[in-house]
Amino acid sequence: MNLIIMGAPGAGKGTQAEAISAREGIPALSTGQILRNALKAGTELGLTAKTYMEAGGLVPDEIVIGIVKEYLDSDECAKGFVLDGFPRSAAQAEALDRLGVRIDAVLSINVSDERIVRRMSGRRVCECGASYHLDYLPPAVDGICDKCGRKLYIRPDDRPETVMKRLETYHEQTEPVIDFYRRRGLLVEVEGQEKVEDTTELVRRALADIAG
Ligand code: AMP
Repeated sequence: MNLIIMGAPGAGKGTQAEAISAREGIPALSTGQILRNALKAGTELGLTAKTYMEAGGLVPDEIVIGIVKEYLDSDECAKGFVLDGFPRSAAQAEALDRLGVRIDAVLSINVSDERIVRRMSGRRVCECGASYHLDYLPPAVDGICDKCGRKLYIRPDDRPETVMKRLETYHEQTEPVIDFYRRRGLLVEVEGQEKVEDTTELVRRALADIAG
């Protein structure tokens, strides 16, 4: 199954992409995580992406399109994939079309802006890519990653002023992409729940309906 997951920042895209990946045995690609890794490694990609990410804007289309193209061309994606955080602009959606990639469904996790702002303040992440929430998905040991044992931290772009900007970017540039897929009949909408496992169950059922 070739899937795209969309939703506002903090809606739970990454968590759901990981859950689907584990359940279906297909890889998940998070463009945000790739960019954060590059930033941490201090590569040219990271340095270019830094200013855009810290300002809550989008990294230029040609950069992320290049990342995704390389990934989709790899053998890893032969059985299917989950794209988490791509496409995020009309130009990216058009580029995906031009690559001739078949998309089976576009899952949108809907969460109101008000709840997003509340949620973001509780998010804690790990260098390994794992993501937690103080109230909704706490780690077993306070401040420590369940998966790798490293210390959790607050993502720099989760500061309230950046979150507001990221939401603005989402409404202006990414929501039109959701409409684009809706018009094609590919959109599947799920209401993001307070509890992660409840959203996971809604997503599971929605995808089972598609597959069935
Ligand atoms: P995310 O982890 O998906 O919330 O992404 C974090 C940040 O990385 C975003 O706020 C953007 O600055 C950048 N980013 C991630 N994916 C994309 C994309 N498809 N296009 C442009 N910028 C992106």
